[in-house]
Amino acid sequence: MGARPQFIKAAVVSRAFQERADSISEAIIHTGQHFDANMSSVFFDELGIPVPKHNLGIGGGSHGQNTGRMLEKIETVLLEEKPDWVLVYGDTDSTLAGALAAVKIHIPVAHVEAGLRSFNRAMPEEINRILTDHASSQLFTPTDSATAQLKVEGIDDAKVHQVGDVMFDAAIYYGERALATSKIMLDLALEPKGFILATVHRAENTDDRVRLSAILNAFGASPIPVVWPIHPRTRKRIADFDLTLPDRIDIVDPVGYLDMVMLQKNARIIATDSGGVQKEAYFHGVPCVTLRDETEWTELIDIGANRLVGADASQITALLQTTSLDLADTSARPYGDGHASEDIVHALRR
Ligand code: UDP
Repeated sequence: MGARPQFIKAAVVSRAFQERADSISEAIIHTGQHFDANMSSVFFDELGIPVPKHNLGIGGGSHGQNTGRMLEKIETVLLEEKPDWVLVYGDTDSTLAGALAAVKIHIPVAHVEAGLRSFNRAMPEEINRILTDHASSQLFTPTDSATAQLKVEGIDDAKVHQVGDVMFDAAIYYGERALATSKIMLDLALEPKGFILATVHRAENTDDRVRLSAILNAFGASPIPVVWPIHPRTRKRIADFDLTLPDRIDIVDPVGYLDMVMLQKNARIIATDSGGVQKEAYFHGVPCVTLRDETEWTELIDIGANRLVGADASQITALLQTTSLDLADTSARPYGDGHASEDIVHALRR
């Protein structure tokens, strides 16, 4: 693992491993893809993720540089550790490097969050997902559509286990804890349901001046404050493009997961291009406006909990000005029963 969403997924799966510590042991490799304290160590500390046994310290390069350097170093670790399985999460360069390193030396790969597709091959994540799925021997899918997609791509049914979404497990487990411990509402002087929570970090938005400035303008026109824990890449791009931040936007440094959950639960609307945050909006019962042209999590569009608006400033503005967006069907449970992590560990033991 190496990136923020992977730490959150790993938190619940590692806990399930620890419950089976009599018969299974886990050694974590941290590639170093995300290295700032508030993008990495905060999650290990507050979510109780075991300390990585191997820290590769690789980050800051291009996709090719990072993936290549990770591949080489992960292979060395695997030859030394000789694991029975290599488990990879999601769709980052670390995911692909881990899967490739393992499969080439005949160590079977298990992929958590298999089968997701945006059908947009310009996204670096899409390539990582497809290649990782096709290199894996066990594919743990979160949704019906992910399972169906693997069938379409000719992957043997016997390798596919639909377990639900580990991020739903995390939302349930840490949701309670956030309510009991987070002080972020007081620290930022926020009123419940009195603000919009925003996150923006996808390359298609951050690397395109027109899209990024359209999003900033739309946030600037919001009738209530927009609280935006900003990703380091996005902060850099705003400076590189010389864009001005409207007054309405309240930029904060990235927050830990418990504070993030607290902000999500209290937001009136969530505006995001994050994969994880789209689902978390639903888990915490908050309407979501997605700043992308397509999504892997189509079930939320189908049930009307999420709206895809791309970087269209007038559409974003119109939605953010709506005082009560409907959440539609909150009884649907498209992401499993909250036990995905245990099911993954059980399948690996078997
Ligand atoms: N997140 C967080 N702090 C923040 C922003 C996001 O803890 O300041 C969490 C968020 O709640 C979700 C995960 O990070 O669980 C999503 O990561 P990200 O948006 O970076 O990646 P994606 O889900 O798009 O792959």
